[in-house]
Amino acid sequence: MKKHLFIAGEWVESSQYEDLFSPFTREKIAEIPQASIEQVDYAIKAAYESRAIMTSIPAYQRAEILENLARLLKEKEQQAAEIIALEAGKPLKTAIGEVRRTIETYKFAAEEAKRIHGETIPMDAAIGGVGRVGYTMREPIGVVGAITPFNFPMNLVAHKVGPAIAAGNTIVLKPASQTPISAYFLAELLEEVGLPKGVLNIVTGSGRVVGDRLVSSDKVSMITFTGSPAVGIGIRNKAGLKKVTLELGSNAGVIIDKGVNLEKIIPRCVTGAFSNQGQVCISLQRIYVHKDIYGEFTEKFVEETKKLVCGDPLSPNTDISSLISPKDLERSLHWIEEAISEGAKVAVGGTTAGNVLLPTAILEAKSYSKISCQEVFAPIVLINPISSIEEGIGYINDSRYGLQAGIYTNDVQTALSSAKNLHVGGVMINDIPTFRVDQMPYGGVKESGTGREGLKYAVEEMTEMKLVVWNQA
Ligand code: NAP
Repeated sequence: MKKHLFIAGEWVESSQYEDLFSPFTREKIAEIPQASIEQVDYAIKAAYESRAIMTSIPAYQRAEILENLARLLKEKEQQAAEIIALEAGKPLKTAIGEVRRTIETYKFAAEEAKRIHGETIPMDAAIGGVGRVGYTMREPIGVVGAITPFNFPMNLVAHKVGPAIAAGNTIVLKPASQTPISAYFLAELLEEVGLPKGVLNIVTGSGRVVGDRLVSSDKVSMITFTGSPAVGIGIRNKAGLKKVTLELGSNAGVIIDKGVNLEKIIPRCVTGAFSNQGQVCISLQRIYVHKDIYGEFTEKFVEETKKLVCGDPLSPNTDISSLISPKDLERSLHWIEEAISEGAKVAVGGTTAGNVLLPTAILEAKSYSKISCQEVFAPIVLINPISSIEEGIGYINDSRYGLQAGIYTNDVQTALSSAKNLHVGGVMINDIPTFRVDQMPYGGVKESGTGREGLKYAVEEMTEMKLVVWNQA
């Protein structure tokens, strides 16, 4: 399979192609074009010159494009899931879940296209405003530069392309180098549903070259980035006055109070910790359990973890497959070793089967071990005892990150005070921090980023407010 760049509605050859390998088999799966700087500029120009086309398309037609895209994706659900499984090493059943969420994301985007509006301003509330009528409008921001990660290659692209089209913007998309096939697949679908040429442009190649050009171009009005904190902070520092939204990483935690129903909670925690090999920005990385139930919790957690099936992502039974790269496997093993040398114990996992890291639970890790204080992005979770809920909140807040957190408790006062005191973008009461549906506001505090996704909120970020005042005096 050989792919080409998608610019101005045409498939454009590049002078350079790189081989793409399956994360699981390490076999070559495709040849991917590496855009030159001139080709990135060409894509930006195409998007810039298509702004007028987009602003001339009424809301109901932008909604129709997105509705038709959702319908087409539904027809091709299996094909789309197989692409994700192949390029990202995501187990097929998890990949199908991602495609279904992507369909919902585009449907929500279609609905949001129809409710972009401003408000009237009570001008005569000020002495100087008497005799004036004022209202606001929301206008498209212009060219959106979208940079996306490998771990949800279809749905996280949808969280940028969907609201951008809904809001009447044009787009240059730079997908992660490991997962470009799903992005080109999206271009084929959007071509089929009649998105005008030049509205969506896709350029692949190294983030440092392609991404950097997008960030520094003065024709791009906004960068919407999802990825690692290090890259996100670099983008922010380079972007100048461009609007920037950053959806970055975390080391999400959950608190388990005594008296809760462990039979229900443990399967949720196992899913939260190991789904997509822990390569989820809100993956459950830290579990703080009340000391009265710590022994029972860890025993049952280990039992449940042992039921997971590890292997080929394309096999329908697989729960856990390989990490995205050999480098990440090596790093994860080092971090486990480091935690052990600092006094932690492995309760389950800690080793590999082929190039799959077995789901790993670590007990009593120190807060300064990397598996605790950095983003692990692998199937590794730590389980530590706490004497009080306040202690658990302290551990969760003692982090550079703050995306989402969870607490399981039967006590309403504990739930209320936790919601208030956890310093994160979203608190899940009686659920894992890994919970997300696509219309909810989603984003973090601290090094987890700035700005919110979730269709309504992303449309707000991707539009600019204009005030109109009529003088009737
Ligand atoms: P990454 O290495 O930061 O890459 C993300 C994207 O940025 C890729 O397209 C990458 O291109 C590009 N890039 C790399 N260097 C760049 C530069 N200097 N300028 C502009 N773009 C550049 O992240 P990843 O490994 O793909 O994804 C994992 C990270 O994403 C984790 O930290 C995870 O928590 C985070 N994440 C956050 C959310 C959220 O919503 N908060 C959701 C999912 C993932 P190349 O692939 O070519 O390097």
